[in-house]
Amino acid sequence: MRQITLSELRSLAENAKDALNQAAVNQGRCIKTYYHWSAGHYGQFFDDYHLLIDKDGELYTTTEDLSEIKAATYMRNSGSVAVSLCAAYNSVLGSSVDLGPEPPTEAQLNKMAQVGAVLCNALEVPPDIQHVLTHAEAADNFDGLTTHDPYGPNADCERWDLYVLREGEEGYSGGNNLRGNIVWYQYHPTADMQ
Ligand SMILES: [Zn+2]
Repeated sequence: MRQITLSELRSLAENAKDALNQAAVNQGRCIKTYYHWSAGHYGQFFDDYHLLIDKDGELYTTTEDLSEIKAATYMRNSGSVAVSLCAAYNSVLGSSVDLGPEPPTEAQLNKMAQVGAVLCNALEVPPDIQHVLTHAEAADNFDGLTTHDPYGPNADCERWDLYVLREGEEGYSGGNNLRGNIVWYQYHPTADMQ
């Protein structure tokens, strides 16, 4: 695992694009990017994701090949890239959302949108529900795939990553907010995204 810049991420994604596309086509899909929280601590890293974003927005990669198949998103790992925030330990989805003592930070949310913009640009996919999904949305098959039963907030809620970005926000707003923020960064790239 190593810390990388957004421009290094762009190179990694460009290098993996053809292999990701081929793997996706083999599954009858398009390239997907999935956005998670780890449900672990800040500073706690997991090899199940390609990319990790720590508390202050530091970006890490666990691989030099983003087409490597990780165990991040049930039955959806071929032809996909998994990004996770190191956050949300002890978060609970009950009658309201409790993101626990280590919720996603603004720095993490901001970097996630920048990472999304770099990935969408480098992989040449639009930031729509077919290509950019939170794990909450993927778990509940918001893109229309039927290869697994729903296991998100609409079902047994086994996974609900980024159902909201912040406590008090509307249920399932996390994905729309992320995609909107990605579009914003596509039009307003930071210096190291270019
Ligand atoms: Zn997840």
